[in-house]
Amino acid sequence: MSETVNLKSVLTCPECGFVKEETMPTNACQWFYECKSCACLLKPLPGDCCVFCSYGTVPCPPIQQDKKCCT
Ligand SMILES: [Zn+2]
Repeated sequence: MSETVNLKSVLTCPECGFVKEETMPTNACQWFYECKSCACLLKPLPGDCCVFCSYGTVPCPPIQQDKKCCT
C-alpha cells in the first residue's frame, strides 16, 4: 500500500529568514526556489537533491520513500 508521504514542507530562506509553507511536487525534485520576501534564488546545498532537503522542514518525497531521486 501507499506509504504516508508528507508533501508540505516549510522552507526557510537562508538570506532573510523568511518562512513559507510550500507543497512539494511528488514526481520531480525542485532545484530552485525563489524567496517570496527577498527574491533570492535558493539552490540545494552540496549533497542535497533539492531545496526542500536543504531548507525545508521535511525532505522531498523520494527521500521520504527511501528512493533515489533525479536518477
Ligand atoms: Zn529571502
